[in-house]
Amino acid sequence: MVVGDVTTAVDVLVLGAGPGGYVAAIRAAQLGRHVTLIDQGLPGGTCLHQGCIPLKALLSASERYQQTRSEDLASIGIHAEKVSFDWASMQVWKQSIVDRLAEGVQRLISSNRVEYVHGSGWFMNPQEVRVEGEHGSLRFKFEHCIIATGADAAPLSDLPYDGKQILTPEQALMMPELPEALSIIGDDYIALELATLFAPLGVKVRLYSPGEQLLYGVEPAALRLVQAGLRKLGVQITTKAALESIAERPVVISQGVCPRTTGLHLAAVGVAVNSNGGIIVNTMQQSNVSQIFAIGDCTGGRALASIAMKQAKVAAEVLSGHRVQFAPLVTPFVVHTTPELATVGYSAEEATKAGYNIVTGRFPLAANGRALTLGTDNGVVLLVANADDGTLLGATLVGPRAGDLIGQVALAIEMGATLTDLSEILYAHPGLSETILEAADGALGRAVHMLAKV
Ligand SMILES: Cc1cc2nc3c(=O)[nH]c(=O)nc-3n(C[C@H](O)[C@H](O)[C@H](O)COP(=O)(O)OP(=O)(O)OC[C@H]3O[C@@H](n4cnc5c(N)ncnc54)[C@H](O)[C@@H]3O)c2cc1C
Repeated sequence: MVVGDVTTAVDVLVLGAGPGGYVAAIRAAQLGRHVTLIDQGLPGGTCLHQGCIPLKALLSASERYQQTRSEDLASIGIHAEKVSFDWASMQVWKQSIVDRLAEGVQRLISSNRVEYVHGSGWFMNPQEVRVEGEHGSLRFKFEHCIIATGADAAPLSDLPYDGKQILTPEQALMMPELPEALSIIGDDYIALELATLFAPLGVKVRLYSPGEQLLYGVEPAALRLVQAGLRKLGVQITTKAALESIAERPVVISQGVCPRTTGLHLAAVGVAVNSNGGIIVNTMQQSNVSQIFAIGDCTGGRALASIAMKQAKVAAEVLSGHRVQFAPLVTPFVVHTTPELATVGYSAEEATKAGYNIVTGRFPLAANGRALTLGTDNGVVLLVANADDGTLLGATLVGPRAGDLIGQVALAIEMGATLTDLSEILYAHPGLSETILEAADGALGRAVHMLAKV
């Protein structure tokens, strides 16, 4: 490594090592490119260190604690008296998962011969990046660059984050002690997941949605189940909340994100950004400066790790000469509430608005053997298909493992499957996936495990 103002020539430079950046780096290396990966923090980014993984780990701990306190447990012969929890130990356990995964990411990076440079980078010109870090100030001249710098929590103008009383979701996950009460402002999946995490741990959670409902676009029947689940946990939900009047503290604000692009000197380089600071890219993830690509949250699109990782592969493949683009038909979306919610493709309302003549199928989990053996009858599967040819258009699942089952429907939609295709294949029995079969059969008018209309 050269220190000072000497320029090091590199092949592919990836700026940011979150799920977008490290996946892009590895994919480009697999394709024979020499990759330098820069991050001011640890590889893994928001998803691994502050977001998806910490939240899901703590949710799992909270849910398991909740299950031991459930009245249903006694009815199946399990008596778990004197169960208690300890937030500090939950944090230690969560961190052990993060550390284990982070070590795995580091090993993946080095085994693919990606050079990792710790430091903060910005553009000097359309071909060069300067990196300030523990090795001093480094200057890299690249053939191609992939920007993957992520996003920061979007603040509310009159509620600046202070990390103690006014918190980002990431900060809420790291609170050293649990507060007696916690207010959450937001209507997105993160707001609902935070409520689902803290309420079972004895925190009085108040959830404020600025709009008329939570989770816009979700099928009303599914939303009702999720809201009932939150209320059962003791979450107090207020919609159409006047945010300026919320004086309770601590308060967590989950109002989306802002692309982390301000310090990159993009204007000087001529890289075009939108009004939110998101880097404008085409379907090949290429910016208006042809050798500079951008992926993930810094593009200002839907902030999901799944999207960042897919765009990463597209960018790495395009700059290695492949003709590919980021054009998924559907994006699976999961909300880890109790019950869990997962959606993909159109809701019935969206499909109708888009001009489709639709047919729907519905199957309640109460009629599924596997759901009952798992101790729940709370959930539903809703399918939407094109009435003209049976092509599947969308699905909403509520219930255990909905987030895993949704992948099956996403695959079906991507492959152009019809209700008949879903109905014809074999499903393991007893299984939750049978609910998808039953909903498809219902839409086809041949559901076996639904009471016949008399
Ligand atoms: C609480 C929470 C829960 C979430 N849960 C989910 C979930 O369940 N599912 C899901 O799909 N998504 C989830 N997300 C969103 C997900 O974390 C992001 O969409 C994802 O991390 C975006 O990946 P990225 O690579 O674009 O950016 P990031 O993960 O943010 O990575 C960007 C990286 O760039 C580095 N960087 C930034 N600027 C510079 C610079 N100038 N120089 C060097 N390095 C720089 C940062 O240090 C960081 O490591 C969640 C987010 C939060 C906050």
